[in-house]
Amino acid sequence: MLSSRKKYIVNGNSGIKTQIQFADQKQEFNKRPTKIGRRSLSRSISQSSTDSYSSAASYTDSSDDETSPRDKQQKNSKGSSDFCVKNIKQAEFGRREIEIAEQEMPALMALRKRAQGEKPLAGAKIVGCTHITAQTAVLMETLGALGAQCRWAACNIYSTLNEVAAALAESGFPVFAWKGESEDDFWWCIDRCVNVEGWQPNMILDDGGDLTHWIYKKYPNMFKKIKGIVEESVTGVHRLYQLSKAGKLCVPAMNVNDSVTKQKFDNLYCCRESILDGLKRTTDMMFGGKQVVVCGYGEVGKGCCAALKAMGSIVYVTEIDPICALQACMDGFRLVKLNEVIRQVDIVITCTGNKNVVTREHLDRMKNSCIVCNMGHSNTEIDVASLRTPELTWERVRSQVDHVIWPDGKRIVLLAEGRLLNLSCSTVPTFVLSITATTQALALIELYNAPEGRYKQDVYLLPKKMDEYVASLHLPTFDAHLTELTDEQAKYLGLNKNGPFKPNYYRCLGHPPNQGHLGSEELPALELVFVSRPHTFTRTQKNNHTPSHCHLQRTFQGLE
Ligand code: NAD
Repeated sequence: MLSSRKKYIVNGNSGIKTQIQFADQKQEFNKRPTKIGRRSLSRSISQSSTDSYSSAASYTDSSDDETSPRDKQQKNSKGSSDFCVKNIKQAEFGRREIEIAEQEMPALMALRKRAQGEKPLAGAKIVGCTHITAQTAVLMETLGALGAQCRWAACNIYSTLNEVAAALAESGFPVFAWKGESEDDFWWCIDRCVNVEGWQPNMILDDGGDLTHWIYKKYPNMFKKIKGIVEESVTGVHRLYQLSKAGKLCVPAMNVNDSVTKQKFDNLYCCRESILDGLKRTTDMMFGGKQVVVCGYGEVGKGCCAALKAMGSIVYVTEIDPICALQACMDGFRLVKLNEVIRQVDIVITCTGNKNVVTREHLDRMKNSCIVCNMGHSNTEIDVASLRTPELTWERVRSQVDHVIWPDGKRIVLLAEGRLLNLSCSTVPTFVLSITATTQALALIELYNAPEGRYKQDVYLLPKKMDEYVASLHLPTFDAHLTELTDEQAKYLGLNKNGPFKPNYYRCLGHPPNQGHLGSEELPALELVFVSRPHTFTRTQKNNHTPSHCHLQRTFQGLE
């Protein structure tokens, strides 16, 4: 049972101290709790750093088959049963979703084309723990096309698209995930990915750090064979820096979260485009004239504020960082303390990556029908556990929508039980996810192919050149025409005409600029060679080959 919890203190560069808690996993997976047991197990977890802790069973649509996927015997059409999904028969439907996603993921499709023949990930055994969506499926199938073997679990108990998981299982990917997993299911699925006879991972792709944590806790010896970790989320990256500081990180790790391409696109544009969708689908609300408070004016907060402002909402912002606070002011938002507006607002949105930003005291003071939701990675931002007290009544009014009712009849509308709204309750734009997924793929390729000694047991940012390359692969979609530096201009700015165009510490979010970076003069282990061998990958050791800009242009043309 989940008896004890271990606490780690993370010192962010901003000086903020964040507590990250890990559950100590002691359950034996063969001794599975009953359905009721699973539910109470989940209920007993009040709060955690991950999205995964939950009271999941109640989210399963009642019209769905109630049998737990763990109790089903399923086989794909090739006879394999090395997967656990809700219903393998949904595979065809999922395949269509994947095909639709492929249309909006040009860079991954381009990587597949270029990999023809050569397989930069040949021999890679990647264990992944991410949201399982059509976009992830395109990433997984790309990794497969590049030569990798993959096993996958979900990093969030609600975000799995069952039909997509089925399509992946049908095409031979061992996927262990379904929407509405219990906490026990969540860890069981992760365990099924790593604890396999005759198969050991040598790369980790994680989103939130739970998979990495699980391997550290349960199978530390596995790290002898693991070449690197690619981590996508703020939370997971914090955990990695913490391990690194404690001298416990035993393999190189790539912090994809702080890649410029991730920060600028996934966090900002993705949230700008999906916040309204998440709110609309769950509440059918009208935004014009509504008073909204957004906690945190980082990238996610900026995206949410911009979208709501555009719809005519009156937007307040709370911040702890004077720079982001000043940005909010300059963008025309009223900077307030949460207490000052909590009685009057119609919607409260958290996007801080922090914990207990909305406390029970705030919840008590909210007005009737106030909507409360979270856009941050973890379910720690709203103190949902404090609402599970006898005097309050919970009423499930829709999937992912709870009314919490006070004794005087006041109700607040809690979305997705405080888990991230857009991924739990809406879809997110595929194109933005394409950028993140391409960054992940390149980070895996880089770590897997890097010459011995390039990366030590530390946390690294993706080489800036690769970051720029991810962006350049997406430009053709917009028929965008990039300006080339003249020789004179390049000399004046002190830049290589082919990039990198920004220093490594550009948008590195406070992580020390000189720590964990590949020097800007060093080239990625794997350069894409466009001229002599179009559409192929070339492994270079300490190579000195840089694709020229016109080569890059040709690449763009190849994408069209
Ligand atoms: P960020 O660090 O740029 O922004 C967070 C902001 O919150 C910072 O400016 C910080 O000063 C502020 N903050 C911290 N504690 C606060 C408090 N108590 N009150 C008010 N402000 C506070 O991070 P980000 O890129 O905006 O990401 C925020 C969260 O959203 C993270 O957890 C991240 O993993 C998650 N995220 C979600 C999505 C999504 O699709 N929903 C996408 C990307 C990232």
